[in-house]
Amino acid sequence: MLSSTPRKFAVVGAGIAGTACSHALILAGHSVHLFDKSRGPGGRLATRRLEWVDRNGQACTTRLDHGAVGITARSAAFQSFIDQAVHAGWLVEWVPVQAAGSLPLEDGDRICVPEPDMPALCRRLLDGVTTTWSFAVDSLYKSPAGWQVEAAGERHSAQFDAVVLALPPAQASPLLSAHRKDWAGHASVIPMQPCWTLMGIAAAPEPAVRWDLARPPAGPLAWVLRNDARPGRERVPGRAHWVTHARAAWSRQHLEQPAAWVQQQLQDALAEYLGQPVDWHHSVVHRWRYALPPAQGLAPSEPCWWDADQGLGVCGDFLGGTGVEGAWLSAQSLSAAIFRSASDAAAYASARAQDESVRQQACSGTGLEQPAGDNGVNTLAVHAGSR
Ligand SMILES: Cc1cc2nc3c(=O)[nH]c(=O)nc-3n(C[C@H](O)[C@H](O)[C@H](O)COP(=O)(O)OP(=O)(O)OC[C@H]3O[C@@H](n4cnc5c(N)ncnc54)[C@H](O)[C@@H]3O)c2cc1C
Repeated sequence: MLSSTPRKFAVVGAGIAGTACSHALILAGHSVHLFDKSRGPGGRLATRRLEWVDRNGQACTTRLDHGAVGITARSAAFQSFIDQAVHAGWLVEWVPVQAAGSLPLEDGDRICVPEPDMPALCRRLLDGVTTTWSFAVDSLYKSPAGWQVEAAGERHSAQFDAVVLALPPAQASPLLSAHRKDWAGHASVIPMQPCWTLMGIAAAPEPAVRWDLARPPAGPLAWVLRNDARPGRERVPGRAHWVTHARAAWSRQHLEQPAAWVQQQLQDALAEYLGQPVDWHHSVVHRWRYALPPAQGLAPSEPCWWDADQGLGVCGDFLGGTGVEGAWLSAQSLSAAIFRSASDAAAYASARAQDESVRQQACSGTGLEQPAGDNGVNTLAVHAGSR
């Protein structure tokens, strides 16, 4: 069982769930070492850097947001987090012009987007966290001295009192199997929805397209986005930066098809949707095997898993509900469970008081009132205007 003294946590996974959980643990005075298999944070809050050569032989670089489209809130707690993040300059609001005949956005017209790229939100939550990148954890080792993480036969020297897994379920399952067979079994059968994504640079359409975003009601494409219409993203006269996401059913049906075949299909689908050919300068496809949790009813009912006796926890969108909000809520739920089991009321209250004073400073002079989350957890320590 954890005690109330500051403890050492390993967090595996640097998406919004892992970074939000790390942030909460740091605020409560614990130390956190975060591991991710990628070269930086973000997970599915993703931006791809494309290097390509234009028709004049010039080397070009273009950055496209090829994961989550944006961030929206349904719960008061997450709305409070978004409001604070917008106020601090971490997120900007985007009201995209929607194509005629597009399906409406599910959570209203306002979408929030991190600047300058999607992983920026996770980067900001990592203040005070030790990080190790390009470390694909494939085993968790537990001894009387504590937990250690291993990747490709290399056991990291750091020892931890507790481990948090913030991964899609299929990636969490093998790590859990030696320690919580029940969770491992449950995670292994959660049917995450896949998504094939086409992204690239093309000549600006003629006649011009006067919208930023479309959710076609039929066909293979679920989302069509002008990346160059998003706030803070690069715009180049004469060019269009496209990101399109295929429907989950289409993606599942064609999950194992060669990338070149998928690319052609999605290019054709975009041209058909636009009603004109697309003159591509450069494009690629990305396969998301675990894009979104399953529809309601197939996901576990608990918002997180926490085994206080072992010091082992799991959070992520598959537990907290769909999307960025679900992942964040799961992380809040897990950190609250950890603090409860560690009798950490004092440390947590002090972290909250500190957080509250920062929040009030951020609001002072602006007339802005920032409500605390409805779970009583104020979850963001930011400095107004910090970038
Ligand atoms: C195409 C697409 C569009 C989307 N659109 C939206 C949207 O508009 N709105 C919305 O709210 N949500 C959207 N989502 C979903 C949203 O992005 C996710 O729900 C959310 O980002 C999940 O966060 P997470 O922290 O739970 O997981 P992830 O972001 O997947 O983070 C998991 C992290 O774990 C790392 N990892 C995995 N295995 C290991 C390992 N063995 N060792 C170390 N590290 C490991 C990964 O590299 C990753 O960084 C979209 C997702 C996709 C793919």
